[in-house]
Amino acid sequence: MTCALNYFLPTATLAEIGDKLSGYDPQALSADAVLAFLEKMVPPLNGKEDVAIFQALDRVLAHDVISPISVPPHDNSAMDGYAFNFQSLPRGQTLQVTGTAFAGKAWPGHLLQGQCVKIMTGAIMPEGSDTVIPQELVHIEGDTVHIAAGIVQSGDNRRLCGEDLKAGQSALPSGTRLGPAACGLLASLGIQQVSVKPRLRVAYFSTGNEILSLGQAPREGAVYDSNRYTVHGMLTRMGCEVIDMGVVCDEPTLLEAAFRQAAMQSDVIITSGGVSVGEADFTKAMMKKLGDVAFWRIAMRPGRPMAVGRIPQGERSCVLFGLPGNPVAVMVTFLAFVRPTLERMMGMHRQPLPLLKARSQEVLRKKSGRTEYQRGIVSTSPNGELQVITTGNQGSGVLSSMVQANGLIVLHHEQETTQIGEWVDVMMFDGHL
Ligand code: AMP
Ligand code: MG
Repeated sequence: MTCALNYFLPTATLAEIGDKLSGYDPQALSADAVLAFLEKMVPPLNGKEDVAIFQALDRVLAHDVISPISVPPHDNSAMDGYAFNFQSLPRGQTLQVTGTAFAGKAWPGHLLQGQCVKIMTGAIMPEGSDTVIPQELVHIEGDTVHIAAGIVQSGDNRRLCGEDLKAGQSALPSGTRLGPAACGLLASLGIQQVSVKPRLRVAYFSTGNEILSLGQAPREGAVYDSNRYTVHGMLTRMGCEVIDMGVVCDEPTLLEAAFRQAAMQSDVIITSGGVSVGEADFTKAMMKKLGDVAFWRIAMRPGRPMAVGRIPQGERSCVLFGLPGNPVAVMVTFLAFVRPTLERMMGMHRQPLPLLKARSQEVLRKKSGRTEYQRGIVSTSPNGELQVITTGNQGSGVLSSMVQANGLIVLHHEQETTQIGEWVDVMMFDGHL
């Protein structure tokens, strides 16, 4: 049965969550404190639906899968060759071929002393045999197979029944993101459909009077909207259902209508722009009016201002991320905060991405007290070590730096200036960008 109900009912207000976190200061939050807050604020969503395996790619498994069968179901040959019993190999190292075992068509007899069976890869091991010698290692004369001494060990080239998975064994835990390997594994178990978590519905729009939609004529002081495209791409790669709501001007009635429509259709709303201090726009005021929203200044670069909150919608609540406007800041705050939060909502169990260590090829100036994410190009040095160089201009509007980079150099909160040759942490883009 299909049941695609995403449900999220808040238990504590944002102020209450903040009170419980030690040292919570919305005006100076560390990146770690942001993650800790979001973990308390946003629970996984309810609901699940049944899908066929071809439709399960990139979905999140909603139940544990126990293997109903053993894979492989029989002992079988890993090579094309000759199956025989190792213990009863005659002194003369010769065997008589007595039949052929094909994949899907077993040899029905029982091997006697001095006999072997010609066997194909994947064929069931004949009764009485325990070893396969590959055909290219033997010398054949008529029906006689000569095996040179010492070239084969007992049990060679025999795949054991259940060596991949045994019947009754845990195959995949709930919360697994079903990649190509997991889909193949489910199929290998004969499983035709699985229950998966509902896809997360994410609505997004860009704000700002200076933001042009594609197709509009350029005008002085205006820039084309890139944020919708980067956000759309990152959400799509995550397997979300995306709801594009265009560009919304700094006009209270338009903003209100956009937020209300987004809340009706989605589990999460992502906006960009209009959350920095001194903004002469209505985005912040509208967020405040419609929901329980915190406006943060995060000790990070790029991406200092950010709003998070909830907009009530009937009995449920919609999570809101008000990202900064600068194109690089949008992508960095998405990777650092939005992605892990959405993964939690999707019920996905994933270890945080491991950071790589690479030697910095340049001096990276920094003061302690904020986290910096610099766009980096990781490569292998002539002596085989990982090394990283920045893309140059680290301005938060320089989107080309995100294209050139293959990862973000993470300079942690307490870290100070890095010298050439020192190790730094890098968050690789990992197919998401
Ligand atoms: P804001 O956060 O609204 O102050 O915007 C910061 C900077 O980002 C400004 O230079 C904006 O023009 C730019 N910006 C805001 N939204 C977008 C967008 N959707 N696409 C490209 N640039 C943007
Ligand atoms: Mg703006």
